[in-house]
Amino acid sequence: MNLGKLARYLRLLGFDCLYCNSYTDDTVAKIADEQWRIVLTRDCNLLQRRIITYGYFVRASLPKIQIKEVLNRFDLYPMLKPLTRCSHCNGQLIETEKQNVEHRLEPLTKQHFHRFLICSECDQIYWHGSHCTRVQRLIEDFSRRGL
Ligand SMILES: [Zn+2]
Repeated sequence: MNLGKLARYLRLLGFDCLYCNSYTDDTVAKIADEQWRIVLTRDCNLLQRRIITYGYFVRASLPKIQIKEVLNRFDLYPMLKPLTRCSHCNGQLIETEKQNVEHRLEPLTKQHFHRFLICSECDQIYWHGSHCTRVQRLIEDFSRRGL
């Protein structure tokens, strides 16, 4: 079961979250052990490995429910730092001047947004300041306690 979307949502909320479809169970276990990471999975066999100290079996199958499940399970609400991490690659987001990214923006984005962030790893551009964007709505949804 693919948890790629959950990983993106967690990053959107600022959590350091590694995800790769091609990681083998051995790789996941090794990384978790070396970097003190919590393993989120839908694979019971993976969680049975002794090397994995912190693991959690995600019960929900819908990503938007999965994120709530994880936030509730680990009581992560006080730790939300939306838009500090790239949802594509987990890189850190840094503020950038509009003039630095202007040439890469769609006309409407250029017109309506003034605060921009750029991923230090993959160069993806993010913007905020409006409540009507899809990303902002997701963040608000996820930040509300409870399911
Ligand atoms: Zn990135």
